[in-house]
Amino acid sequence: MKILLESGDNSPPMSGFKLGIVRLGRAAGKTKYALLDERDIQLVQQYAFEARVEVDRDGNGAKIYAYAYDINRGRSSGQHVHELLWERHSGGIAPGFKVIHKNGVTVDNRMENLALVSCNTKEPIFEEPHTKNREQSLYWVAIQQLPADPVEEQYPESFITKFYNANGEIVEEEDDSTCYYECHYPPCTNMEKELREFSICGRCQEARYCGTYCQQKDWPVHKKFCRERKRPCLSERPPER
Ligand SMILES: [Zn+2]
Ligand SMILES: [Zn+2]
Repeated sequence: MKILLESGDNSPPMSGFKLGIVRLGRAAGKTKYALLDERDIQLVQQYAFEARVEVDRDGNGAKIYAYAYDINRGRSSGQHVHELLWERHSGGIAPGFKVIHKNGVTVDNRMENLALVSCNTKEPIFEEPHTKNREQSLYWVAIQQLPADPVEEQYPESFITKFYNANGEIVEEEDDSTCYYECHYPPCTNMEKELREFSICGRCQEARYCGTYCQQKDWPVHKKFCRERKRPCLSERPPER
């Protein structure tokens, strides 16, 4: 799915240009989108986009990247979208170099946000959970404008694997305990640095937030999807309306 956003009024920072937003699908407990320059939105005709969670080897949790593969060549042709774009617009990536996201948002793949640096360069660490800067970023503004994902409404978060016996009874439930979650508030890109770090919505026990700020901000939307977690013994009852 692609959406072109255009801001009609003169409210910065969205004014004056179009932006491509590609839905990457679900990752780390939420629906992720990538930002692209408008000219790159045509890539969706040739490439399939998806979200990839990559666990940081240094123990700093995980990062979510946009990944794309040529529809005709299959998954093995896949590469990171930021590298794909760099190669298209700025030439190759020489050995010993890598492409980074200047603002730390790893799905913000506007060329303006990408830079080629030596692999020895330490990536800047972005520790600004709730500053105004972040909320004024293009990524934040764009993602905030997106309507809630209808897929999420239909199939609320469920990372629970259920094991059934021959009678169809649940014998074991296992949630995905090795999954790092990103804050459920759509524009927030804070990611758990340790498993189970974030607090969980007490009602549905599914949505996870980096803090009360994001939970409160997300509540007007989340309350439409938040369902009180049902115990297995109640599952015989018809769904509540
Ligand atoms: Zn957050
Ligand atoms: Zn909830």
